[in-house]
Amino acid sequence: MCGIFGVYPHKDASRLAYLGLYALQHRGEESSGIITRNGKKTYLHKNLGLVSDVFDEKIIRSLRGELAIGHVRYSTRGATNLKNTQPFYVKSKIGDIAIAHNGNLTNILSLNKELQDKGAIFQTTMDSEVIAHLIAHSPDRDCKGAVIWALSKLQGAYSLILMLNDMVIGARDTFGWRPLCLGKLEGAYVLASETCAFDLVGAEYIRDIQPGEIIFIYKDKIESITPFKKTPSAFCIFEYIYFARPDSNIFEHNVYLVRKQLGAQLAKEYPIKADLVMPIPDSGTFAALGFSEASGIPFEYGMIRNHYVGRTFIQPSQSLRDFRVKVKLNPLKGVLKDKVVVVIEDSIVRGTTSRGRVRALRQAGAKEVHLRVSCPPLKFPCFYGIDFPTKKELIASAHNVEWIRDFIGVDSLGYLSLDGMLNSMPLPRENFCTACFTGHYPNGDVSHTSGTLKINNLQQR
Ligand code: AMP
Repeated sequence: MCGIFGVYPHKDASRLAYLGLYALQHRGEESSGIITRNGKKTYLHKNLGLVSDVFDEKIIRSLRGELAIGHVRYSTRGATNLKNTQPFYVKSKIGDIAIAHNGNLTNILSLNKELQDKGAIFQTTMDSEVIAHLIAHSPDRDCKGAVIWALSKLQGAYSLILMLNDMVIGARDTFGWRPLCLGKLEGAYVLASETCAFDLVGAEYIRDIQPGEIIFIYKDKIESITPFKKTPSAFCIFEYIYFARPDSNIFEHNVYLVRKQLGAQLAKEYPIKADLVMPIPDSGTFAALGFSEASGIPFEYGMIRNHYVGRTFIQPSQSLRDFRVKVKLNPLKGVLKDKVVVVIEDSIVRGTTSRGRVRALRQAGAKEVHLRVSCPPLKFPCFYGIDFPTKKELIASAHNVEWIRDFIGVDSLGYLSLDGMLNSMPLPRENFCTACFTGHYPNGDVSHTSGTLKINNLQQR
């Protein structure tokens, strides 16, 4: 997962990119970067860390020009190091190319090999470098033609914002796994992964970039083309369940309302008598509201989140049981004591965090803990940009619900059904990718071999 942002032409381009990335920080906390262009000069600043750590006023002022694209990274491929930060920038025979990519290409190894055979040298392990090489290697010398040629070679998930000389380009693969929206601000066009970025910079949402669409933003005009053969849509349903911000609209619908509906459906599928329903904050909060509304069970916060916990903190000198859980979420003893509690979690991945949280709730005095999950069991890895562990590490791939209930240590466990999830969506079910639940990979180039998954030639982690 990653967050991407672009704007052109605007006199405060770098500042807008900074703010846009700030709004998209939840999509990637590993690194942040902005590239701008002023006439023939290109300015780039990127580093490991959060947007607020990587940029300051002086740096933003130094990023000159009316064109900016930016990126926040959460790696699904490639190590977390400075080389692998984005936007990825190269000079080529057709000019300056910069790329901000959200997604995961599934034919990366064969592309990589093909390019290396032609003499390409790679500096990073990122998909975006391959895309840059493809653009540079295109037989078509015209910028537009080169981009179309390069994108026609890609398989898998991409929402992209490119800078190609004095042009910003937005593109989405034909399946549309990852979101990308188009907005307008004072005569400039703005592109962003989610609409929450538009809200912060004051841009007006125009529409989503359509699957398979490429948008060319020039200084004085915009052009849209759909050069590729149409495929069915495969919007990532996990964006609605967990990833996107609740105040965003993605795939043209509000995330908060979808999560509430998931919670209401969960209440319908698992009627229960309980004293209170509580979320695991923040990702379970909106499904818990929907659950409470539909079941009539009062909503309470049974855990309070400390918002200042960074990714690393100084560990206590002696080992404190469940320290990692408790430093982030502190159970409310007064609310939980002797209560029958329904806990709403958006998803269970490995099950280990949930296990620690449940133990903390019991220690705080909860009499019974019933866990409800607002999506079905996650059984299959994602090859399209969500960072799930290997199949082996996904608890539901090897164990049934009763085993997981026992492992997590709850009195009952209920996962939302696949039909219940799909019926809660604001779009027809055929529009979604549900590969992580069903193992049905929409671009069909995945094969199961002796217990591991292979996608083309790429052996997944
Ligand atoms: P666990 O109990 O270890 O399976 O962790 C479950 C928690 O991980 C849930 O609260 C989810 O919100 C969160 N989660 C879901 N998907 C991801 C992901 N791809 N990366 C990190 N955390 C995730």
